[in-house]
Amino acid sequence: MNGSGPAGRPGLAVTPGARGPGGRRLLVIGGGVAGSSVAYFAARAGWTVTVLDAGSGRASDVPTALLNPVRGQSGRVDARALEGLRLSWSLIRQLSVQGHQIPHEQRGVLRPLGTDAARTRFECHLPTELPHRWLTATETLSHDWSAHDWLAPGWPHLLFLPEGGWVSGPALVAALLAESGATLHRVRAQTWNAHSATLEGSEVLTAEAVVWCGGSVGMSWGGASWGGGSGQNGAGTATQTFTHRGGSLLLLAQAPAPIPVSAGVYLAPHETPDGRRGGVLGATFEAPSVQHAASGPPLKSLHWLLSRAAALSGDLSATVTGLWTGSRLSGECSGRQSGGWWALTGLGSKGFLLGPLMARELVRELEHPRAETGDGG
Ligand SMILES: Cc1cc2nc3c(=O)[nH]c(=O)nc-3n(C[C@H](O)[C@H](O)[C@H](O)COP(=O)(O)OP(=O)(O)OC[C@H]3O[C@@H](n4cnc5c(N)ncnc54)[C@H](O)[C@@H]3O)c2cc1C
Repeated sequence: MNGSGPAGRPGLAVTPGARGPGGRRLLVIGGGVAGSSVAYFAARAGWTVTVLDAGSGRASDVPTALLNPVRGQSGRVDARALEGLRLSWSLIRQLSVQGHQIPHEQRGVLRPLGTDAARTRFECHLPTELPHRWLTATETLSHDWSAHDWLAPGWPHLLFLPEGGWVSGPALVAALLAESGATLHRVRAQTWNAHSATLEGSEVLTAEAVVWCGGSVGMSWGGASWGGGSGQNGAGTATQTFTHRGGSLLLLAQAPAPIPVSAGVYLAPHETPDGRRGGVLGATFEAPSVQHAASGPPLKSLHWLLSRAAALSGDLSATVTGLWTGSRLSGECSGRQSGGWWALTGLGSKGFLLGPLMARELVRELEHPRAETGDGG
């Protein structure tokens, strides 16, 4: 087993298989935002947590993730978006106060719209309780700048979501894992069931419960189990459809906009945990696929990304300093599976908006399982 060790601070670590005061051990497979949030809330509920994370293909390593309740072209807003947004910010603030370095800013998100029809569509879907306002052409957002200082011309409607913002994905995940005090094993689980996981090399870890949070890459490794409904792990999710979608972020030496601006692609600030500031330009834009696909973007994708960015930004002169590519999984799935193990996955483009909230709900259900009806999936 490689790289095993406590993810938490000294004194909070537990040895694999050891029982916490409540005597309940939880195995979490996958250490992205879903798995680390499950570990965090389970530890707070008294579980002794072990996280198995292969450490590759992690979508949650996205260098800048938006906390944006209004995604996509339709303007539809998830019913849990506001609660998820507020929980994620409260976690980020609390973990920061506890000493974790989590680059983030909650200064709002800007959603430009190109037509009156698009505005009408968005207005139809925006819940009144979600704070938002439509900016006028010259409205000053901060002390001395208005969106039109850096936005390209041609956007008649600007939706401003003041509670939105951005966070460093890997920094938040690391903080959640550390604060959970979980033991982290850098290893791939080959098979699992309600009470155990078999690792590479045939070692078996047991626990009172197992939660699978393997994301896009893990779904590809164990795809037969999920899609077929009767695979090696006994999952019974035959009706569940999962879609993988690749995307990339260009890392930029300067932020192209002071707050995230999102319309098909997003431009946003970026900061490394050691305080180096820059920006990102990114999107999940590759064709949806039935398998994890996170190889670097083809040239035509880069062309599309840059042309969409040029339509958004008045000045795209920043130097490109790097490239990050990942794959996200859509097809939300949360709860107990028919094999008796639990899952939280398929968070699509809302992993950082809804992942912590859904993890908290899953842990509540772990604590107080509903009466079984049918297959429990
Ligand atoms: C380009 C791009 C931009 C994005 N932008 C945003 C954004 O702005 N805002 C937002 O909220 N979301 C965004 N997302 C989506 C977000 O990244 C995902 O929703 C989220 O990271 C999924 O988290 P997860 O924990 O489910 O999976 P992952 O982060 O993929 O983690 C899964 C982990 O499990 C491990 N694993 C899998 N199987 C096993 C196994 N059998 N044994 C051991 N380990 C295993 C993997 O190695 C991996 O480390 C973006 C995604 C992409 C690709």
